Amino acid sequence: MSSAAPPPAPLGLRRGVALADYTTWRVGGPAQWFAEPDCSAQLQALLQWARAEGLAARVIGAGSNLLVSDAGLEGLTICNRHLQGAALDGSSGLIEAHAGEPIPSLARRAARAGLSGLEWAVGIPGTVGGAAVMNAGAQGGCTAEVLESVTVIDPQRPDQPFQISNQELNFAYRHSRLQHEELVVLTARFRLEAGHDPAELSRRTSANLHSRTSTQPYQQPSCGSVFRNPEPHKAGQLIEGLGLKGLNIGGAQVSPIHANFIVNTGGATASEIDHLIAQVQQQVRGAHGISLHTEVKRLGLSSTT
Ligand SMILES: Cc1cc2nc3c(=O)[nH]c(=O)nc-3n(C[C@H](O)[C@H](O)[C@H](O)COP(=O)(O)OP(=O)(O)OC[C@H]3O[C@@H](n4cnc5c(N)ncnc54)[C@H](O)[C@@H]3O)c2cc1C
Repeated sequence: MSSAAPPPAPLGLRRGVALADYTTWRVGGPAQWFAEPDCSAQLQALLQWARAEGLAARVIGAGSNLLVSDAGLEGLTICNRHLQGAALDGSSGLIEAHAGEPIPSLARRAARAGLSGLEWAVGIPGTVGGAAVMNAGAQGGCTAEVLESVTVIDPQRPDQPFQISNQELNFAYRHSRLQHEELVVLTARFRLEAGHDPAELSRRTSANLHSRTSTQPYQQPSCGSVFRNPEPHKAGQLIEGLGLKGLNIGGAQVSPIHANFIVNTGGATASEIDHLIAQVQQQVRGAHGISLHTEVKRLGLSSTT
């Protein structure tokens, strides 16, 4: 990896940080440069520094939808999980949240404030920024239905934040235009339905969480569903139908509990997970002629699946 000039100390930059510690799959090699900013101004300064050094920069949230190469990542990786905080208005239903705010705790706070619309989000272990990028969703709900707008910055002009409305984000199933543009989400504005019974919302939220934890392998490192559902089929059913539950390569295993999850049973590498993904795709294509596309974002891996 190439080396850049020593950075200014206040940016909190570190070298060679193991990204396995920042992904829920617990795999991923070292980041050439790594930082966890404490505020938006520091995030903007980090992007400015990377730009001045000619380094690629990327922002990650909770790393719950990432497959990061064992070789690690060149350039600057910024984890924004410290950029938390949200203001909820119980009468208008308006929520302003920082991108690093965990979406499950936002869902619980909204329920306690009598705001309905995020009950589905309680079991998704990501951040507000990641939810906006991925159009995260579950149990019939999704981000696109409740998000009004995001404030973003372009790493080429980090000092000029601007807003993008819901309509301009081109939301679709697990998709937004943010997946194809190098924009960094700073904050998100949600509009929920006010005036609901907090006790009933909290009950519904807890029931949603329970139904997920009892049918999905939440105790093992994973990235949730690996494949997008090839409508009208369910990826998990296709995989299970071929008897692939339990199939493993090294420490990577098709979960015996939910076939659309690949779990790290201990010591898995990104390469093993990647090969298992390819093997599942090959078998489903061979048996059904259906191409499974990954929902997880691959960073630093050469082939595309
Ligand atoms: C056990 C488990 C269950 C899951 N269940 C679901 C589910 O039911 N539904 C669902 O939709 N997903 C699910 N997921 C996947 C994942 O939690 C979601 O995709 C989540 O929205 C990702 O958020 P994150 O903060 O972890 O993003 P990351 O994984 O860190 O990043 C995902 C992408 O977003 C980008 N990104 C993140 N933050 C920013 C930002 N601030 N600005 C710009 N780009 C950014 C990253 O660069 C990357 O391209 C599950 C994952 C696990 C581990």
